[in-house]
Formats: sequence, C-alpha cells, structure tokens
Amino acid sequence: MMPWFKRVEKGIITPTEEKKETPDGLWYKCSCCKTVTSMAEHRRNLNVCVKCNFHERIGSAEYFAVLFDDNQFEELDANMTSSDPLSFIDSKPYPERTKATQKKIGLKDAVRSAHGKINGQGLVIACMDFAYIGGSMGSVVGEKIARAIDFARKNRLPFLMISKSGGARMMEAGYSLMQMAKTSAKLALLSEEKIPYISLLTDPTTGGVTASFAMLGDFNIAEPGALIGFAGPRVIKETIGKDLPKDFQSAEFVLDHGFLDFIVDRKQLKQKLSDLLSMLKPEVAEEPVVQKERKAAKA
Ligand SMILES: [Zn+2]
Repeated sequence: MMPWFKRVEKGIITPTEEKKETPDGLWYKCSCCKTVTSMAEHRRNLNVCVKCNFHERIGSAEYFAVLFDDNQFEELDANMTSSDPLSFIDSKPYPERTKATQKKIGLKDAVRSAHGKINGQGLVIACMDFAYIGGSMGSVVGEKIARAIDFARKNRLPFLMISKSGGARMMEAGYSLMQMAKTSAKLALLSEEKIPYISLLTDPTTGGVTASFAMLGDFNIAEPGALIGFAGPRVIKETIGKDLPKDFQSAEFVLDHGFLDFIVDRKQLKQKLSDLLSMLKPEVAEEPVVQKERKAAKA
C-alpha cells in the first residue's frame, strides 16, 4: 500500500512569515459598534462601518480616491519638507522625528495638495493626514495650503480643504502660528476673486486649524461624528467650572449651534460637492475681480 502522505524532505521548517494563516487586515472590527466585516466590504463602503455608519479616519490618498474621477490627479509641491528653525528637541530631535515619520508612513508632511476633476469639474484639494505627527500644522502645511490656494486663483478653480488636525505643531512653535495668518490672508484673496472655498472638517479638527482656514469656508461642512473644537474639553471644563453638555464638540453639536452649513456622509460626499460646485460655477467662470479693476483703472 502507498502511504497517503510521504514526507519527501526531512526537517522542513517554514519561517513564520511564510506560514499560511489568515493575513493581517482581512477583517475590520468597528471601533464604535464592534461589528466585524471583511476588509474588502469595509473599503467598498469607503471605510464607513456598514452597521453603525461610524466614519473611520482616512488619509489624503483615500480622500483623493473617493473624490477625484478615476483617482486621476496631479499633486502640487509633493516634495516639500520642513526644516528645523528652532533646533527643537523633545524625546528626540525634530529632524530625527521627521525622518522616522516619513519613512514609517511614506508621507512628506501632514498635508497633500492636488488638482483634478470631480464629476468632470476642475477642483483643487488640500487634504491633511493625521498619521503625520497628529496632522499638526507647521510651516510646510501652511505653505502648501497657501500655494494650493494660489494655484486655484491662477486657474480659477474652486478650492476644497479637508482638515484633520490636532492643531499647531509644537516643534515649530511660533512658525506654526504664523501659518494661521498666512492661510487666512490667501483665502481672503480667493474670496475677493469670487472663487468658491469649501471647508470639510473631519475627525478631529481642533486648535489653530479650527481657528483659521477650517472655519473660513464659503461652506463649512463636516463628516458625521467628527470632533470639532478649539481647546480640549478638559481645559474648557476647568476654565468655566461647569460640566459640559452631552456630545459637546461633535459635528452634530457644532451644526446645531450654527457653526456648520451641513453634515455630509462620506458616501454622498462626491455627489454633494459636485452639485454644490455646479451651483457656484457662474462665479468661477466670471472674470477675476482684480483684473476687472485693473482694466477699469487703465480705461
Ligand atoms: Zn460600527
């Protein structure tokens, strides 16, 4: 009789990484309702829980894929990186932290900007990445946003900012705070030239980001459940000496108190944005105000 199974080689040792087991990341467990779904289904649902609609945090690559037609876009200032103006050292020197973060997550800083088409209409998007030092705003973030706005002005394209940030970057201190003024000034120019600016606030949008460009949109919109605020709840509680209301600083609370125009589900985001942009289009097509004024001055 032939044996059912004959070991041909002796002493076979399979390294752990080659063992056939369930690969990592095949399943997704919702951090809100704990429902388990396949990662493929979760991705198809744009990283939103199929059961409870919890919006998982995603990065610029995912937002670009959600919004730009066929994920086609041209990135702006892709290689800009920060210097170390203050020779800042916390648990490690800032340049070391920068290098380690870049290597680990493959991003150069906490924002990426790009232009492309959304349902056939041109759009410039700057999108923050929370994975890069908590989406903190340093000089690169401010500069890239400022340049993306300049690109939008030059090409008369609407501008969408997707915020996701813990606020200003400690390691650049005062330089981080200057970005609030710089980005706000650029947005004022965009507004003067009657080019639409839509600000999408995602989980979390706090600190100097909330206090500058994130709240300056012609439309300020948010994803469901996003944490939106300036200072953290503990600081506020200690300052006012009162308990805070339920759902304080959630997108829904902020909407109820008049700081947002609407909340949009990620699955409807692309359609709602392109509807909104097509309504605003006549203004985009109009001649730049600055040029008009110059012409009038010449005549
Ligand atoms: Zn869930």
